[in-house]
Amino acid sequence: MHLVDMHCHLDLMANGPAVAAQAATVGLGILNAGVTPDAFRAARAAYANAPTARCAAGLHPWWIDDGRCGAADVDLLVEELARTPFVGEVGLDFAARHRASAPAQTEAFERIAKACADHPLPKRLLTIHAVHAASTVLDILERYDLTRSAACIIHWFSGTSDELARARRLGCLFSVNEFMLATRRGREYARQIPTDRLLFETDLPSHDGPGSAAELMASLERTLATVAALKRTEPFTLANEVCAHSCELLDLHGATPEPTPTETAAPSTNEAV
Ligand code: MN
Repeated sequence: MHLVDMHCHLDLMANGPAVAAQAATVGLGILNAGVTPDAFRAARAAYANAPTARCAAGLHPWWIDDGRCGAADVDLLVEELARTPFVGEVGLDFAARHRASAPAQTEAFERIAKACADHPLPKRLLTIHAVHAASTVLDILERYDLTRSAACIIHWFSGTSDELARARRLGCLFSVNEFMLATRRGREYARQIPTDRLLFETDLPSHDGPGSAAELMASLERTLATVAALKRTEPFTLANEVCAHSCELLDLHGATPEPTPTETAAPSTNEAV
């Protein structure tokens, strides 16, 4: 594995299964963040044979906010979490345009956190959306002591410095993408986050239509280059450390890239010539 995208949305690409197949051939690991429990169930079937893709079961706060999902979807997800270790995208978004649904979002996230606490599973991991809501997210993680029993990854952290310090004290991890690195504050946070708490992600797609593993890889490479420069470290060393941690979290160590057609076609008799 060369790089791992710890938060992307294959489900929202026109050609997710093709992207997952390409990813396996280029040594790209992917955590597919589901936005609804139904999307997770479909994804689990669609990516069952993709050796470097893993699927998380989630319920994105925007889907609660606009009424596309409700209590029945929270029930479905809670039921799923008794047997599914990877969770997300879940979380809270209290930005002005989503704030009206803050109580419903909070109730859902609290039920999801409780389900994780009630069903501790090996490799439990959450990829968490927290926009203008980092303190409330951390309150809930703390209430259920989730950072002890799970890898709690705040995706695209955008809270205050105090909230970052609190999240670090609680033991959260942080997945960083190039949109976050486009702001001065995001770059400063990425510089401060210790490498053993740092993961890379794309949060793609950001456009309609087909995606590609090359696009994900290019975005991760840009994130890697920027973070390495901020930390004044070698990209190769940083990539290895972050990738090893990601593979451990996603249980990707046994998932070797499939041989490329060129390698398969290479005649073994060449060595004897
Ligand atoms: Mn996302």
